[in-house]
Amino acid sequence: MRIKCPCCNGRAAIYSRAAVTDTVSNVYARCNNKACGKYAQGFVTQVSFAHWLDPKTENLQMALQFLLDHIPPDQRKQVLAQLQ
Ligand SMILES: [Zn+2]
Repeated sequence: MRIKCPCCNGRAAIYSRAAVTDTVSNVYARCNNKACGKYAQGFVTQVSFAHWLDPKTENLQMALQFLLDHIPPDQRKQVLAQLQ
């Protein structure tokens, strides 16, 4: 799992996690961006269960994400425009 720093949107390093409830956890992380004003400062973000996914829909979403990740940017824009 990747966590972004809420200050700079850079990558943060997770160093601990604690369950709040059966479906909510506090995730403790630090910003890894030396240019950020919050570099190396810890923060807490929450991760929670939202809902189950339908296996067929999940497979379709994964296939679409794979396609979008592997086509040239101009074609990606065309595909996204057609989906709207
Ligand atoms: Zn940051």
